[in-house]
Formats: sequence, structure tokens, C-alpha cells
Amino acid sequence: MRGIVEDMAARKILYPSCGLCRAPVGEWFYEVGLTRFDSMKEAEAPLRAAEEAQARSAAWLKDQNKN
Ligand SMILES: [Zn+2]
Repeated sequence: MRGIVEDMAARKILYPSCGLCRAPVGEWFYEVGLTRFDSMKEAEAPLRAAEEAQARSAAWLKDQNKN
């Protein structure tokens, strides 16, 4: 998994640092497990909600770094 993600970052498919804390791809941690969703369609709304929550976290962190 790490190799796949690092390859995607090298090919500029993925941004090579964390959008929240700026950690470079080589320092990322991975969790692998079963999803509770039966399809991507079923997962889409919860994923969008998580994406928005992460964007709010990123904005909050960015704001903290200004002080
Ligand atoms: Zn991070």
C-alpha cells in the first residue's frame, strides 16, 4: 500500500503532503480494514460529510498557525 501511494505522489496523482498537517507522504500512517458500506454509492454521502469535516479541521488548523 505504501508503495502504491508513494508512486501516486511521485506521479503527481496525489498531493505529496497531508492537507491537514503537511506531513510528507513518507511519514503517513495507514489503516486497513473492512468497510461498513456495500457500495461506493452507499459510501458517497458519508465520505462527502467526512471530506467537509476534514476541510473544516484544515481551516481551523490553518487559522491556529496564524496566531
Ligand atoms: Zn496530517
